[in-house]
Formats: sequence, structure tokens, C-alpha cells
Amino acid sequence: MKKIVTIVGARPQFIKAAVLSRIIVEKNEFEEIVVHTGQHFDQNMSEIFFNEMDLPIPKYNLDIHESMHGAMTGKMLEKIEKVLVLENPDAVVVYGDTNSTLAGALAANKMHIQVAHIEAGLRSFNMEMPEEVNRIITDRISNQLFCPTKQALENLKSEGFDHFGIDIVLSGDIMKDAVSYYNQKAEANSTILEQFDLDSDKFVLATIHRQENTDDPIKLKNILKGLDDISEEIKVVMPLHPRTKKRIAEFELSTKVLLIDPVGYFDMLKLLAHCKMVVTDSGGLQKESFFNKKHCIIARDETEWKELVDNGFAKIVGTDAGKMLDAYDHFLKAKSNFEMNLYGDNVGETIYFHLKNKLGLN
Ligand code: UDP
Repeated sequence: MKKIVTIVGARPQFIKAAVLSRIIVEKNEFEEIVVHTGQHFDQNMSEIFFNEMDLPIPKYNLDIHESMHGAMTGKMLEKIEKVLVLENPDAVVVYGDTNSTLAGALAANKMHIQVAHIEAGLRSFNMEMPEEVNRIITDRISNQLFCPTKQALENLKSEGFDHFGIDIVLSGDIMKDAVSYYNQKAEANSTILEQFDLDSDKFVLATIHRQENTDDPIKLKNILKGLDDISEEIKVVMPLHPRTKKRIAEFELSTKVLLIDPVGYFDMLKLLAHCKMVVTDSGGLQKESFFNKKHCIIARDETEWKELVDNGFAKIVGTDAGKMLDAYDHFLKAKSNFEMNLYGDNVGETIYFHLKNKLGLN
């Protein structure tokens, strides 16, 4: 049986990989070995997703928790290479834009193993973001690129990818499948609303974790000010990423927002389904808001998911507290057609089909 190695390491990758892994197990046409780099390791940032989403237990856990990007990526490269030598797979699959993505793609590329990149072609056009650099390099050294949106496909074309001999597929966004598959399970299993005394439609959900926001005391303070202003009108609940928690303490910041520990995927989907609106700097949350028919305020200066802004589902406010409150007031009155299909259908099946046929896994 042919074999792929899937590299994961960070929370959003567990969620995306779960969609494809389920199809691989169901079809049973080739084998999947999961490698966890260890980038996210807390129980509520990692293990809970494997349990809730039935992700295959990683055969390898590389246990890499460096904080510097170079050291982290370097160690991953070295350890992933060793795994690839041992496993000798027919292809490597990487997701998104983290250091685990880049290290996985680079290790495979150097061994002439085919690489498939899921969530290819996204660009923020902000080269100071570590994720932007990871994406561009990963795209360029992959053999097969799965674009979540037409915009992502256009980005690749304008960078000349048509001429690189790479197989490029407009697959749609794999997170759409995750939300449709797990939403009902989340509704039935999560007790998060009762736990924190939250009433449907009576709270705003916020998440902040991007390094450009958390590591700058002024930006982080402004974001918390914006959220505090919103919380004068409605309860704001924020599952706190470990990095954000650390920085709030370090910068001695305070907030009226209800801060809770990071939640599992079921709890997150339940919060999304019942909140009034979302404020976030997360890429995944922007689309999950849309899939749950919720408007989204983006605490960044740009987004890779431009179609959400162009069609009035989301607004970019950066770290300006005034703009954040204005956006909240704007969306309270806004009516949007959330039925619009921006992210494709049967995305997991499409990716599976192309992986199998183009990478010769059958
Ligand atoms: N998420 C979660 N629990 C949380 C925060 C986020 O399950 O406490 C999920 C969220 O629903 C989304 C993914 O994690 O599917 C997004 O991850 P993150 O925001 O860390 O990364 P990004 O999407 O920005 O790459």
C-alpha cells in the first residue's frame, strides 16, 4: 500500500487534517502516518482535538517546543527528515502556514518526496508576518497546491506559478467541511454556554493570538480597550491563547472581558453558533464566523480572506479601539446573505481525489 506522511503541529492543522484523515480511513486505499511536531502541546491546544475529532494518534511526536522561530524550524527540519528516512513515504501533506508546514515541506523537498500543500496561495502581502514567509516558500517548493479560494488561485498566477510545473487545484476551503461535519456533534456535546452562563445571541466571541498583536504592548492594550468598550454594551468572552495570556501578564494589562482557557473544537463551534458577533485576528475564525452566519471584526491591518470583507461579512479594524466599536455598531444593523458560496463544496473529497490521482497514490 502507498503511504503519505501528514505533518501537523498547531491547533488549526489538527482541525484541517481531521477532515482528510477521516476520508483516508474510510476509503482505505493508501496509508497515512501522522507526525506531530509538538509546536502546540498543552492538553487544550492539542490532545483535545485528537480526541474530539478522531484524528489518528500520531506515530511520531517530535516534542519540539522552542520559542525562537529559527531554532524551532531547524529542529523540526532535522527530526522530520529522520522520520521520512524511516518511513520512505510516497508523498508528504502539509497544512496552512506554520513553522511545521515549512519544515515538513522543506524536509520532503530535499529528499525529492512529493509535497502537497493544503491552503495554498493565501497572501496577506505583509512580509513581516512569519506565516506569510512560510506560505510563500511552502507553495514554491510543493508539487501540488490546493487553493481554498479563487483569490488564492489568482495570487499564485500573478506570482508566475503557472510556469513552475506545479499541479494547482481550486479545491475550496477544507475548514468548511470541518464545520459542517462537527457542528451537530458540537451542539449536542458542548456545555460551554451553561458553564459560563452565556445566553444565545447575548455575547461577543473574541480570540487574539497573532504575534504582531500580542507582542506589541500598545497594540494589545488598544485591542483590549476596544473589547472593553464593546463589553459596556454586551458580554465579551475570550478563550485565551497561551501566548496572549503570557503577554497580558507581562505587560500588566487588565480587561473587563471574560477570559477563559482555550476551548476544544466542540466548545468553539458552540460559541460560534450562539454568539452575536466575532472579534478576532485568527484566520480560521474569520471563515468559521461566516459558516456560522456571524459577522466578524478583524483585529488586523489586512486579511488573506479578502472575499469576506469585499462582500460585507467582515470588517478590518486593525488595533483601533474606536473602529472596533464602530464596526460592532455597524454589524448590529447589517443584513448579509450568508448563503453565498465562497468556499466550495465537498472539499475533503476533492482534495482526496486529486491527491490520489495526481500523486500516484493508487
Ligand atoms: N480554536 C479552538 N479553540 C480556541 C481557539 C480557536 O478550537 O480556544 C479553533 C478555531 O475554531 C479554528 C482554529 O482553532 O478552527 C484556529 O486556530 P488559530 O486561531 O490558532 O489559528 P489560525 O486560524 O489563525 O491559523
